[in-house]
Amino acid sequence: MPEIVEIEILRKEIVNQLSGKTINEVVINKESILNVSGEEFSPLIIGNKIVSARRKGKVLIIDLSNDISLAIHFLLTGFMRLVDKCNRSKVQIGFILDDGKCLTINGIMRGGFVKALATSKVFDDPALKKLGIDAMSPDFTRNELKNILIKNGRKKIKQVLMDQSIISGVGNAYSDEILFKAGILPMRKASSLNEDEIDKLYKAFGEVFKTAEKYGGASELTFVHLDGKKGEAHKHFFVHKRAGKPCLVCNTLIQTVKISGRSAYFCPHCQK
Ligand SMILES: [Zn+2]
Repeated sequence: MPEIVEIEILRKEIVNQLSGKTINEVVINKESILNVSGEEFSPLIIGNKIVSARRKGKVLIIDLSNDISLAIHFLLTGFMRLVDKCNRSKVQIGFILDDGKCLTINGIMRGGFVKALATSKVFDDPALKKLGIDAMSPDFTRNELKNILIKNGRKKIKQVLMDQSIISGVGNAYSDEILFKAGILPMRKASSLNEDEIDKLYKAFGEVFKTAEKYGGASELTFVHLDGKKGEAHKHFFVHKRAGKPCLVCNTLIQTVKISGRSAYFCPHCQK
């Protein structure tokens, strides 16, 4: 699924490629993912410029010039493209821009959303309000991570990393990679990490994100860049979805275990 790295890539592309563009028309084929009816949605959007893009966890926020923001949650399979011409019958939602190009949204399943919200009240929306600290935010410090681990000490470390209400942005794939990088087994209790391990874990967040962004994000499922190009980061994962394959560091076979209903992947030798 698109996690923090992929949404951050889209955010940057929107800022760089779409700032200042006016939305001339909205095409709606999947009203059920909107927070209001199509009739209410379109007038909130049409005639307004894209001024900026933000992100909280895995939610992309596009700010418009009329103090309305679009909050988008792609869930597992949603994706966004910038195409030359809108395929009006095929898009879930399409935003036709003043240069004729179209920002399209497709693949969003039930639970994902495209919401039109007042810019100043974006974080009052229940889906955004419940999100924990963003894993790329400057406020996410080593000390903050330590506090989180203390507060959630009885939970398994992988569970803490994936819980969007605790830390937002990290999902199944990047939690596996972060824990591998930090040398920590996913089933360890959060409270069991010593100071040295907290250091390693904190550093691993930044390192894993940086590497994944360098490879253009992970396209295990449907994630693509605005131009349709896939990312390659998943081809460089050390453990995620590599069960039974040799560890790239020590050659031990990668194992998998279920943690709160999700498969965790780890190296039993490199991770303690
Ligand atoms: Zn290993």
